[in-house]
Amino acid sequence: MNTGKRLLIFVVMAVSTLFNARQAQGQAGIELENVGASYRFGEQITFIATIKSSIPIQNVSIIISDESQSITRVEPLNVQADGRMEFRFDTRQNVLRPFTTVKWNYQFALPDGSTLQSESFFIRYADDRFNWQTLESGTLRVNWYHGDSGFGQAALDAVQSGLGSISRLMTLDLTQPIEIFIYANAEDLRGTLVIGGEDWAAGHANPALGVVMVVIEPGAEQSITLEQRIPHELMHVMLYRRLGAGYKNLPAWLREGTATLVEIYPNADYDRVLADAAAGRGLIPLKDLCVSFPADAGQAFLAYAESRSFVTYLHDTYGSAGLLNLAASYADGVDCERGTERVFGVSLSNLETKWRSSVLGQNTFLPALQNISPYFVLLCLVLIIPLIGIVSTLRKKGSQNGSETYVGR
Ligand SMILES: [Zn+2]
Repeated sequence: MNTGKRLLIFVVMAVSTLFNARQAQGQAGIELENVGASYRFGEQITFIATIKSSIPIQNVSIIISDESQSITRVEPLNVQADGRMEFRFDTRQNVLRPFTTVKWNYQFALPDGSTLQSESFFIRYADDRFNWQTLESGTLRVNWYHGDSGFGQAALDAVQSGLGSISRLMTLDLTQPIEIFIYANAEDLRGTLVIGGEDWAAGHANPALGVVMVVIEPGAEQSITLEQRIPHELMHVMLYRRLGAGYKNLPAWLREGTATLVEIYPNADYDRVLADAAAGRGLIPLKDLCVSFPADAGQAFLAYAESRSFVTYLHDTYGSAGLLNLAASYADGVDCERGTERVFGVSLSNLETKWRSSVLGQNTFLPALQNISPYFVLLCLVLIIPLIGIVSTLRKKGSQNGSETYVGR
């Protein structure tokens, strides 16, 4: 489909390689020719080069790494009689992030034990399975393959309104480009994600690369999903830019909570699911949402709803500055429970109790007991054990009467 583009990359790189190679390796007696890479997205990248050497070489390796240095591979190469070398890098497990720039170079081991390294070459591992259309404004670019130019404009508008929403929380950083890739269905997006990843993902950001991928299914709801998912993913990118590499230390509830906070049209089901869970099936404790969200779609949705509600509560209580201080503290590596204590003077579990009580109207009496001195606890237990008995008897009766309400959920 995009052979033209691939060929161009190939030729451009081969030319620049010839030029550079003579400079870099010419004196050492090693020259590389026809250096290039081509790929089939989701399958493999093929690296080729021809080596011309006037000195003996013991062996040649290829060193491959991605932009974020999350992978580095060193592989020995077979050099054919005519000097050609080829290496096929398997990308079927999606170890490479889509749209990442892959860097490679060659390493030559000489008989005297020394090594020489070629200069670096680059190829962008873009998802080229689709015929992307593009619209840009400044450093922002939207790419889509389904829908007309009006759809692209609506997407760019959603980017702008998302940035407006984010700017009410924090200063924007648009110095580096942001690229948004809009997939027309979840199946197409899933083709780009790590196998075994979340099935429910409707969007994904690679904040370090400034790359956002979202599913916007065309139809009546498209403008709502545009203004929900694009601002959400942009927030991930902006927060990363503010915090740097420490962003990965943020608890999942904070990463996702701040992202849902800027959705122009938040999912209307968040509130319903949250109220249902608070009233019956039970909330997921925030400490269980520090590292990641549940794999199960229903539980993951509840995790989003909780994170959104809790972060909104933090924002209402401590303001944008408080929320950003908290994020900065977590980025420093403070653990999940202690972060809130360091910034707000309240442990995560205590804040959770306050949030449950003030936002969800949950009874906070029992958890609050944990903070009272042991004597008081003992005294209270002696007093309330008979009461608990009565209450639970009443509750059992209540839930038997109300059980029909929950059928079919
Ligand atoms: Zn997210």
